[in-house]
Amino acid sequence: MYKLHNHLKSARLLIYIMYVTLSILFTGLLNVVHSLYILKIPLEPLSFLIPVTAGIAFGFTLAHIKALSWQLQKMAYTDSLTHIYNRLHMTHFLEAEIDRTKRYGGKFSLILFDLDYFKKINDEHGHQTGDRILQQIARLVSQANRDADILARYGGEEFLILASATGINGAVKHAERLRHDIEHYNFDLPRQVTASFGVAEFKPEQDNLNSLIRRTDIALYNAKGRGRNCVAQA
Ligand code: GH3
Ligand code: MG
Ligand code: MG
Repeated sequence: MYKLHNHLKSARLLIYIMYVTLSILFTGLLNVVHSLYILKIPLEPLSFLIPVTAGIAFGFTLAHIKALSWQLQKMAYTDSLTHIYNRLHMTHFLEAEIDRTKRYGGKFSLILFDLDYFKKINDEHGHQTGDRILQQIARLVSQANRDADILARYGGEEFLILASATGINGAVKHAERLRHDIEHYNFDLPRQVTASFGVAEFKPEQDNLNSLIRRTDIALYNAKGRGRNCVAQA
């Protein structure tokens, strides 16, 4: 998501340049055709002033509308605290991945994790500290994930990873690494921050979106039951 944010910035600049250039060319061409073939008057350098000005204004307006629509899309699909995808967008990715796997084969897994005793962290250190920890977790996990993995904030202190082209063994290994990374990260708190993980591999012959999420959720519940700070598989 952080990478996407940077891509959007450079894409926005490119789109400004592209729309302004296209608009100048378009209005300039219209002016040439209008002068030479309709009014039948020779072109003068000054006669390009109005189309160029209009082209710049038109191009900037178009680019601004495009940037606004991107902004709205980003707000609808990302979590404002952590800047990673939200639950709604993760559902879109999951539906597409399930569809793809059922049609063309392949495999993928889900990793759902929930911070342990997070209510205590809020109670003892304040809600702002809780927010900071959620942001640090999102950054830490984004950096540890592969580019192909999709991370979303699935609930309050619950995160979901779609690990594409990954079977249960690879997903458990990855979850174990994340669990270790969180446990050993310095959150600048007197108490340790840990998380519990539930992992499930998609089974094309029996799963749909709801059953896959349910199996992953039950695995997470089992990890909590085993004393937390551990990984359980469905
Ligand atoms: P468990 O180990 O069983 O998961 O215990 P827990 O305390 O983490 O679980 P519980 O569901 O009781 O508490 C979750 C807490 O997460 C309660 C809620 O205030 C907090 N929380 C949810 N969203 C946010 C948020 O955006 N910011 C902060 N600071 N806290 C949040
Ligand atoms: Mg919790
Ligand atoms: Mg929770």
